[in-house]
Amino acid sequence: MIQDIDPKHFYNQFQKAAIENSDYIISFHNNMIFAKEAGQDLDFIRYEDFLNRKREFHFTYLFTIDRQKYFLLKEDVELKVPGFAYCKMFDIRRRFPKDRVMAASTAWHLYVWYRDNRFCGRCGKETEEDEKERMLKCPVCGNMIFPKVAPAVIVGVTDGDGILMTKYANREYKRYALIAGFTEIGETVEETVRREVLEEVGLHVKNIRYYKSQPWGFDLNLLLGFFCELDDTTPIHMDEGELSLAEWVKREDIPDYGEDLSLTHEMMQRFKKGEY
Ligand SMILES: [Zn+2]
Repeated sequence: MIQDIDPKHFYNQFQKAAIENSDYIISFHNNMIFAKEAGQDLDFIRYEDFLNRKREFHFTYLFTIDRQKYFLLKEDVELKVPGFAYCKMFDIRRRFPKDRVMAASTAWHLYVWYRDNRFCGRCGKETEEDEKERMLKCPVCGNMIFPKVAPAVIVGVTDGDGILMTKYANREYKRYALIAGFTEIGETVEETVRREVLEEVGLHVKNIRYYKSQPWGFDLNLLLGFFCELDDTTPIHMDEGELSLAEWVKREDIPDYGEDLSLTHEMMQRFKKGEY
């Protein structure tokens, strides 16, 4: 999965780090990330690319992978560096190395949080970055704004040798997926599992078992994977607003897309191998 970057290590604890020449700079513009042009390894510009620029820029420390520090460029400007371009977040997923895909996904999540909390939602004044932890605070009313992660479930509904697979309607992602959805305020994740399966395909489930979780910064999520069993005798009743396809697929017919990023794909492959 995207977070499995062993032997490298991802260190995301906040620190007030001083920027250095070799540090990576992540810049977003029009919802795209500034990176090496398509067709090459995923790579980013470094602070040394900013040394001769006339205007002043501001950077916020993001995280470190092994010894490589990443900083976010706070200004929303369109950079120009030969060999680099603003790339769609969806397109960089399949590039290598994987630790930089993980970095891009996490940087996007943090960037959106900083961007969307420039002003206090309580009193409207400009917020400030805290010095000690990842937090934005309002100097006027004292409002403290912490990073926001949206929990969502991925559900492998099984029935003997079959698993329920879906395709989304109106999404860029066209491959098979599993039932998925956000946790609503006031419910447990197990309740999310039951509700989403019922809403999307009209079925009841039992024996809900937690599998694994995954940070998925592309969509600002923490994904929680569950397997469960069909507890119904009625046919699939698909929500056509959410899905374009929902069907039972036998273990041997589950496609292997050959990717090593998503929790969904890992769950499908584990079931294909008869491990769940
Ligand atoms: Zn305020």
